[in-house]
Order: sequence, then structure tokens, then C-alpha cells
Amino acid sequence: MISSFVNKFKIHFNLCDLNSEALICEQHKSLARQLPSLYLAGITSMFSVIAVNFNTAPAWAVIYIPAPALLFSFWRFVHWIKVSRNIESYSLEKRRKDVRMVIIMSPVLTLVFTVLAIVLLFHGDLYQQTLSVLLLWATVGVAGYSMSSVPQASITSVFSSSIPLFVAFIESHDNLLTTISIGYISLSLLSIYILLNSFRAFSFLVYSRQELKEKHEKMHKLAYTDPLTGLANRRNFKEKLIKKVKQSAGTEQKFAVCILDMDGFKTINNLYNHAGGDLVLVEIGKRLEKLIGKNGLVARLSSDEFHIQAYDVTSENDAEKLGRAIHKTLREPVLVDGNRVDISTSIGISIYPESGLTPSHLVKRAVQAQNKAKRSGGGRTRIFAMRYETEILERAGLLIDLKAALERDELEVYFQPIVDLQTGRYAGFETLARWNHPERGFVPPEVFITLAEEKDLIEPLTICLLRKAAAVAATWPADIKLAFNLSAQQVCNPNFALTILAILNETGLPPHRFEAELTETAMMLDMEKALLMVSNLKQVGISISLDDFGTGYSSLSQISNLPLDKLKIDKSFVDNVSTSKKMRNIVRTIIGMCTVLKLKSVAEGIETKEQYKALKAAGGHLGQGYLFSRPLRADKIKGRFFYDPLKDAA
Ligand code: C2E
Ligand code: CA
Ligand code: CA
Repeated sequence: MISSFVNKFKIHFNLCDLNSEALICEQHKSLARQLPSLYLAGITSMFSVIAVNFNTAPAWAVIYIPAPALLFSFWRFVHWIKVSRNIESYSLEKRRKDVRMVIIMSPVLTLVFTVLAIVLLFHGDLYQQTLSVLLLWATVGVAGYSMSSVPQASITSVFSSSIPLFVAFIESHDNLLTTISIGYISLSLLSIYILLNSFRAFSFLVYSRQELKEKHEKMHKLAYTDPLTGLANRRNFKEKLIKKVKQSAGTEQKFAVCILDMDGFKTINNLYNHAGGDLVLVEIGKRLEKLIGKNGLVARLSSDEFHIQAYDVTSENDAEKLGRAIHKTLREPVLVDGNRVDISTSIGISIYPESGLTPSHLVKRAVQAQNKAKRSGGGRTRIFAMRYETEILERAGLLIDLKAALERDELEVYFQPIVDLQTGRYAGFETLARWNHPERGFVPPEVFITLAEEKDLIEPLTICLLRKAAAVAATWPADIKLAFNLSAQQVCNPNFALTILAILNETGLPPHRFEAELTETAMMLDMEKALLMVSNLKQVGISISLDDFGTGYSSLSQISNLPLDKLKIDKSFVDNVSTSKKMRNIVRTIIGMCTVLKLKSVAEGIETKEQYKALKAAGGHLGQGYLFSRPLRADKIKGRFFYDPLKDAA
């Protein structure tokens, strides 16, 4: 029984941990509720005892000892009244200090009060003695109960009253007092037991409330953050945007919604696996968070899509600045497995209230702007303008027309010669799609091919063009090849090789006279499938040209791993080849690399004789451009398959 009591005592004392933040707060709150009344009770009973014994007891017992105790109690009474009025503003340190003070001072005060009561007990008559003892018991009882949340204070107070009283009563050798003292000590033990139980219930409540709070916080965090980057998630972003719009409604406040989509993120995932991709996303998140800071909210909504609320963007000018700052911070490559990975992003921004008054409008319009940024080649920022709405409607109209053009077979193929720079002989022609709309006029292939790619029309469109082009090419001399551009979806669809083969078969064009032109960005979309497609094409004798070389991210090692036959040097390199020595050196290096890798180089966009001469001198293999010929209709090819500098003027 005694050992279980001691154990219980130990356990409870372990529980009153002054380091536990939650416990200290709750103890402090409980003390603030109880202590003002306790001090009031203590002061009143001390006054009563003094009043009753004032004439009989010595001055030190009714004035000199109680006076400082009363003053101290009054000071603590005022302190705890102040605390209870302003409890929430108290820091943990202040709370801990208050609790410590109670633990130290409670037994001291009780001891003073008890000693006083004992002294008075031996000075007064029976009536005075009874009053002193009764008041002492009542006060100690109230003290124990009031401080039950802090057992260190309540239990030591009970002891510091019961032990001196017990000793004094026994020492009096008075039978009645000895009997009272035994009863008093038993009562004290019982009250300690009750106090411990009450503290157990109190601490249990505090700890379980704390646990509940922690669980709630954890669940809240899970529900509102993106687990990979630790940024806000979709739900969080949406709720904060709704709140922000509500706050800003009817005020002058403006802010921006900014949507980022990484360009070619799939390629990063393909090259460095998901772990590498995740690393890049985490780094992007960190950089954006650092840039936006407290002036907004950064969220990751899906794989590589980040949304930002920028509270300090209030004009188009600010939005442009923000776009520039984002591009700048993301420009620094991310290191993945020792490789420097470049990040490019397309950004769309909408501004409240100009771009939209509701959260959904703001997001929708930022997405429209972002799509526009992506369509214009990525790596850019577009700010929503009302004219985009018209453009979207315009694109919807264009799509209807494109479908009709396909049905009515209105799309045409033009051919642009690819010339041997050293001999002037035509090596082949590149097929270029043409759409001459009866009302719209000439629609650039970049526009309608992109539209067809987006709206799943690219396959019927390509089949139709390929059939026409192959039928024409089958009529050309056997050494003239047909080059044909493939879209990203086709490059990443190994089955499309069979479709090509079937059409070549049907039109009678041998596969070795067919060249597929594909861009590196198209291949990067799904490298595995693209490599399979390329090997399928190679197996049947079709050759492969890498288009627009120099505009993507290809490195020498990546090129040498691809089974290529030709490499088309982008027009941007050719433009200054005759005027800039630096550019001439770059082009010469690319041509040299092609020679080493046993590839033929094709310089694109040759417009002047100077460019032609410079490329010829640099050892260029093939060339293409307005200097030799613009893209021609089939019937304009006139059966001549060489470049004549005297006749063929640009
Ligand atoms: P591309 O494959 O790089 O085609 C070369 C583009 O450069 C063509 O533009 C051609 O007309 C133009 N070009 C040729 N020589 C010169 C020159 O000396 N100066 C200038 N300024 N331009 C020159 P086009 O026909 O407007 O085609 C644009 C792009 O549209 C093509 O770029 C290609 O990516 C795409 N495209 C065209 N036809 C097809 C097609 O049938 N299928 C697919 N998937 N894409 C196509
Ligand atoms: Ca091409
Ligand atoms: Ca090209």
C-alpha cells in the first residue's frame, strides 16, 4: 500500500515536467484562475486570527511576523489579478517563472502561517485556539485545492503545515491535542492522495489535449502542403486565393496570379529518372519561395506546374518584372548527378481586378496567358490581356476551318530543294505543308501544325500530306530524296513507322529515298519511344535528319549516341556566317563534328551568295534556302535538279 502510494507519488512528480510547454501553460492558467481567491482567503483569515489574538498575544506574533507575510500576499494577489486579466499575452518564460515562484513560496507562506497559528495556540483561550486551528485548516485546505494543478506546491504546502503542527501538538503532551494531531496527519495524507488523483486527471487532460492538437496540426499540414516540395498545395492555394479576392473586393488593392509550367520537364524526367526530376522540382520550389517570400504564396499544383499569388504586383510593369525575376532565378542550372540541368519555364500572369474578378477567372486567364507563352516557344512570360479571349475564339474558328480543309482535301505540299553545296546538284527536297484558306489567305504551317498537334488532328493531317508528297517524289529521278517533317507525337510513336512504310509502298517511293526530319525537342518528349521509332525507321532503310540543330539542348555525346544520317544546322547560325568570324568558326566546328560522326550537314536558310560561299568554304555538305529556291509547288519543279548561280536568283 505504502509502496504503491510512493510509486504513484513518483509517477505524478515525473509528470509535472517544467519543460513541458503545454503543461506549464495550463498550470499557469489554472493558477491565474485560483490564486487571487486563495490569497484573498489567506489575507482574510490571517487578519481574523490577528484580530482575535491582538490583545493577548505578543506584538511580534501579531505584528512583526504577519506584516511582511501579509504584504507579500497582497503583492502576489495584485500580481495574479493582473495575470488573469492578460493571460494570453504571457510568454512561456514568464509563465514558467510564475509557476516556479508558486512552488517556492507556497510552502514558505504556509509555514509562516502555521508557526503563527501554533504560537497563538499557546497564548489564547480555548475560543481563540479553536478559531486559529479552524482557520489554519480551512486555509491550508483551500490552498491545497487551489494549487492541485501544481502538486509540487500543493503537497509541500500540506506538509509544511501538517508536520510542524503534528510536532507541536505531540510536544504539548496534551491528550486532546495529540489525538487531534493524529487525525490531522491522517487527513493530510488523505488530501495528498486526493490531490495526486486530481493532478493525474489534470495532466492527462493536458497531455491528451496536446496530442490532439499535434495530430490536428499534422493533418492540417498534410491536407494543405505538397509533400514533395513542402509548398502550398492546390487546396491551400485555392482557399487563400478566395480569401484574398474577398479581402480585395471593393478596395483599391491589386495583386497577381502567376502560373508557371516547366518547358520540356518530361525530358528531365526521362534523362534523370523521377528522382532527378523530383530534385529539380524541389530546387525550383526553394528558389521561387525565396523570391516571393512574404509577399505572396507559392504552390505546386501538379507535377511541374507552380502557381504563385504575388501580393506586391499591381501593374503590368510589376508583372513583367516578376516574370523576369523568375526566369533569372531559374536560369542557374540545377545539379543532378553531377550534370547541370537547365530549366526553362513558361509563365502566364493575370492581375486582379483587370484580368478577372473571381478566383476562377484569374486562374483561367493566367493559364491562357501561360499557354500563349508556351506556344510562342517557351522560356517567356505573357501577361493576360483581354484580346486573348478574342484569340481563343479565333483559334476555335481556325480549328473548325482546319477540320473542313482536311475533309475537303485543301491542304497542299510544297517542296524546297536541298542542294549539294560543293557540286550544286539537288540531293532532295524538303516537304513543307501549305494551307491557303479561301478567306483567311496563307495560314503559316507553324500555326496550323501546332493547332493540329494540340487537337489530335496531326495524324490524319500527316498521312494526307505524306501521301501527296510521296506520290510526287516517286516521279523524280532515283537519286533525289524526299525529306519530310515529323511531329513530336509521331516521333514518340514507334507504330507510326509502319504507317509511313505502308504509304511509301502504296505510292511506290523506295524507303531509301525517304528522310524523316525530327527535332531534338520532339525526341526528348519520350526518349525511349523515340529511339525505338528511329531504329524502326532505320531498319527499313529510311534515313534520319536532326532538324533545327543548335536550338535545343543536345550535347555532342547525345548526338553521337543517335543513329543519325543528317544534321540540319539552324538558320540562326547561317544568318551571320558571312559577317561574323565567331559564327563562321562555330559553323565550321559543327560541320567538322558532322564529318567525324559521318553525318551530312545541311545548312538551313541560306539567303545570300556570301552565306553560300562561306558555307562552301567551310566544307559544308548540303544547304537549303531562298537563294537556291523558295518552296515550290510540284508542277513548278520543271525537271531541273541542280543549282545554277547564273539563272537561280534569290
Ligand atoms: P522547318 O522544318 O525548319 O522548315 C524550314 C522553314 O524555313 C520553312 O518554313 C521554310 O519555308 C523556311 N525557309 C527555307 N529557306 C529559308 C530562307 O532562306 N529564309 C527564310 N527566312 N526561311 C526559309 P515553313 O514552311 O514556314 O515551315 C515552318 C515550320 O513548320 C517548319 O520548320 C516545320 O517545323 C513545320 N512544318 C512545315 N511543314 C510541316 C509538315 O508537313 N509537318 C510537320 N510536322 N511540320 C511541318
Ligand atoms: Ca524541317
Ligand atoms: Ca529546320
